Amino acid sequence: MTDAPVLLWFRKDLRLDDNLAMVKAAKSGRPVIAVYIRDRDQSPLMPPGAAQRWWLHHSLACLHKALEAAGSQLILRSGDPERVLLDLAAGSGARVVAVNSVPDPAARAADARIAATLHAHDIAFHGFDGALLHDPDRLLTGSGGGYRVYTPFWRAFNQLGPPSPPLEAPRNWRSPATWPVSEPLERLGLLSAHPDWAVRFHELWTPGETQARTQLHRFLDAKIRNYDTDRDRPGIDGTSRLSAHLALGEISPRRIWQAVTSAEPQGPDVAASIDRFHKELVWREFCSHLLHHFPELAVSNWNPGFDGFGWREDGAGFLAWTRGETGYPIVDAGMRQLWQHGWMHNRVRMVTASFLIKHLLIDWRRGERWFRDTLVDADPAANAASWQWVAGSGADASPFFRIFNPTLQGEKFDAEGTYIRDYVPELRGLGNKFIHKPFEASVAELAAAGISPGKTYPMPLVDHRMARTRALAALSDLKDVSDGIVKKTGSS
Ligand code: FAD
Repeated sequence: MTDAPVLLWFRKDLRLDDNLAMVKAAKSGRPVIAVYIRDRDQSPLMPPGAAQRWWLHHSLACLHKALEAAGSQLILRSGDPERVLLDLAAGSGARVVAVNSVPDPAARAADARIAATLHAHDIAFHGFDGALLHDPDRLLTGSGGGYRVYTPFWRAFNQLGPPSPPLEAPRNWRSPATWPVSEPLERLGLLSAHPDWAVRFHELWTPGETQARTQLHRFLDAKIRNYDTDRDRPGIDGTSRLSAHLALGEISPRRIWQAVTSAEPQGPDVAASIDRFHKELVWREFCSHLLHHFPELAVSNWNPGFDGFGWREDGAGFLAWTRGETGYPIVDAGMRQLWQHGWMHNRVRMVTASFLIKHLLIDWRRGERWFRDTLVDADPAANAASWQWVAGSGADASPFFRIFNPTLQGEKFDAEGTYIRDYVPELRGLGNKFIHKPFEASVAELAAAGISPGKTYPMPLVDHRMARTRALAALSDLKDVSDGIVKKTGSS
């Protein structure tokens, strides 16, 4: 029976390194058939958005190359995973399917169904972990629930001890005598012509496992020492930019954790930066644990006290926001960065999300969906948890009444206007005094900078003060919300 192959089903773990399912499949001594299944019917797994599909296309090409270099192949199929796996098993004689679990309750439920069907056909379904640093069911409060507040989560995380070390990729494994037929990558329909994301994405991104490792080492060599201060400056390339690689599992969090932990501290500043970076990785973990305990995170207020919030329907406002035409330079720069490069700096994600929610009073779920479709790093847990964090409806959230002033945020975090000039070229001619508030410049100053208000650059969509007052009024209209917040977040 050892000639019956193992089907190694790749999902959000598009790497050979630190891949437990792969190690186990190789160790079994059986031939290994690697497969990726594109489920067009949008299974319960949150389907990848358009920008991430671009990444996925190229990532699959890289994985295929890596497997080929190791004398293997990646079989591509589209269809319902259950049916495809049964098909492949019938054709190849496989009796085992090995997968790394996807840390998403909907995916777990789907896996349970698939496992039951396969079992009925005498095929074993073996799931392994590796997408997170610690198992959400092991990191629980004294009362056995999930953590709701980050700081105690961080403490408990550290008390569990360091995450287990990453596994090396298996050196060799057996191939089947005959390979199942694979669909051409192009047939999976991951690339779109309208819009053609590739136009500007290639400037910034190279998907794939090899690049993920290169990116990690580049970050450790050149950027980590100033991470603690640079990470909040959108005009500086000061963060790791590993999020998209992480989102599709081209690199594991354990590999990153280990590399960062063993980086030389070289003084207190670097130690602070390493600590800060660890904390960000644990934010990712915190978001995933929240989703684990609250599967509705992307669609329902984590704090039901927000359920009756008086959101506005504002189609024109939403469109202006998506296009980066709000008249607030930091918001517009962020939304254009997102459209052009499929990524946005974290500080600006907070500012743009806050603007949609609090200045325009548009439901956070619309923003969450827009980000999900346009971010290359879209992650069901981090995206939903962060949107709810900004909205004030989430776990350990920023209170709704804390309303960012987009002008002050720009002046504080992009004092030289570098970021604005990169993404809002029509404002390049303005000096630093008005780069974040062109609406306060005189007609002569604007004319000197070649700006015609309302024509070359929009007037503000809303007045900041009016918007702030309106948002606070909407909050006070929401009965019992403060009670709800206290009840939900008061305990850890
Ligand atoms: P670095 O600063 O280098 O951080 C390293 C890693 O830590 C990141 O790759 C990421 O995995 C994790 N991380 C950092 N900050 C956060 C955070 N605040 N929350 C959770 N994890 C974090 N991140 C996503 O990966 N996918 C998303 O869909 C996503 N949506 C967001 C939506 C909003 C409204 C906001 C405010 C934040 C969102 N984030 C999301 C978190 C954060 O903005 C990105 O993880 C970060 O900007 C990615 O860049 P980086 O890899 O250079 O980060």
